[in-house]
Amino acid sequence: MFSEVRPNVFWIHPPGGGEVYVVRTEAGLVLIDSGSPGQRKLVLEDMQHADLNPRDIRLAFVTHAHCDHVGGMGWWRREFGFPVVAHSLAAGPIEKADPVITAAEIPFTQHSVEFDPCPIAHPVGGGEHFSSGERTFLTIHAPGHTIGSMHILSGEELFVGDTLFESGGIGWFDVHWGSNPEDYVETLDRMREHVGRLVLPGHGAPYLLEESQIDTARRTAEFYIPSEHGLGTPRVPSAYPKDGPA
Ligand SMILES: [Zn+2]
Ligand SMILES: [Zn+2]
Repeated sequence: MFSEVRPNVFWIHPPGGGEVYVVRTEAGLVLIDSGSPGQRKLVLEDMQHADLNPRDIRLAFVTHAHCDHVGGMGWWRREFGFPVVAHSLAAGPIEKADPVITAAEIPFTQHSVEFDPCPIAHPVGGGEHFSSGERTFLTIHAPGHTIGSMHILSGEELFVGDTLFESGGIGWFDVHWGSNPEDYVETLDRMREHVGRLVLPGHGAPYLLEESQIDTARRTAEFYIPSEHGLGTPRVPSAYPKDGPA
């Protein structure tokens, strides 16, 4: 299933996985997330129905290292040969297909899925501009859900991965991914400057950003921050060394 949510901005929705977005520019297509390896066929079919040729992809962005968003990117890059942009803290786990940090395996569960490693041409820190034709794409470091999460702003469209869903829901926190509720709350507060813009999330439909969604997510996240009185969720040290994953 696909829909053109704004002129030249396509939402591809393979059921049961991460959302995939394609922006059509005068210089070719820009892909934001790829979905998992198992979604490849559905995404290709949807692109065909939308009259988008994957051979026209010139650039791809990754919102974060999770398998449901980037697990299939390795194949797309091999097949169509475009550079991939990811946050530098997500790049290593994506290139090495780190099973835990990419959530391809969830410790203490039977969950295990395929992850196709993908070279990252541009590991970024946030604040970099990329151009394709008439469009500019700004990277924004957005830690919280994972340490290497990134938003991408292009015109009035903001791609946010698993930071914030339409209902005000938030992506899971897990220490193995470098999740951090304090960072998350700061990331949310920085999203307030985008109220009124179209948010394109990693799960579910795109929506116009309102303060109330940010407030709902903030209340959820604050539950995980220990209060001065000792309530809250016990903290465990991050799986990452201080200067990020090796
Ligand atoms: Zn995620
Ligand atoms: Zn996800």
